Amino acid sequence: MKDLAPRKRIGLIAHDNKKKDLVEWALYNRAMLAMHDLVATGTTGALLGRQLDLPVTSLQSGPLGGDLQIGAMIADGSIDFLVFFWDPLEPQPHDTDVKSLLRIAVVWNIPVACDRASADFMISSPLMTGSYERRVPDYTAHNDREIPGDEPERADPEPSTGGSR
Ligand code: PGA
Repeated sequence: MKDLAPRKRIGLIAHDNKKKDLVEWALYNRAMLAMHDLVATGTTGALLGRQLDLPVTSLQSGPLGGDLQIGAMIADGSIDFLVFFWDPLEPQPHDTDVKSLLRIAVVWNIPVACDRASADFMISSPLMTGSYERRVPDYTAHNDREIPGDEPERADPEPSTGGSR
């Protein structure tokens, strides 16, 4: 379990055709967003910072590694909620990173809103302003799994007394 305090760290990303949507949504929910820490990919972050007049930590632009940086923060336990308006109608140069980010969010049981309706439902949840015990999946079995070729070291064989091999 991870205790999420009322002040959460929210990751925000929008592909270019979805940035307008995200800015509109964020402006509408500005008062709520102001209660949390905001982290975003480069261009999304610059746009939101200007439009909301709120501090937004901006990482690299998505195609330059920003999605992966957000993914790494999720793996570190430092993102609590992800708003990711990805574009379903256009291939992206970093499609593999997009898939990785969506995957790692599920690996760590992070709430993800990929469209405005989901974002509306999630941001109006009482859990946004309260504390919440997020169940962190237990990956001990995965981490402790046996790896072929990683058997315990065997004692050195008796030194050979001669003869051919
Ligand atoms: P951007 O990246 O905010 O730098 O545009 C978003 C993305 O394409 O993942």
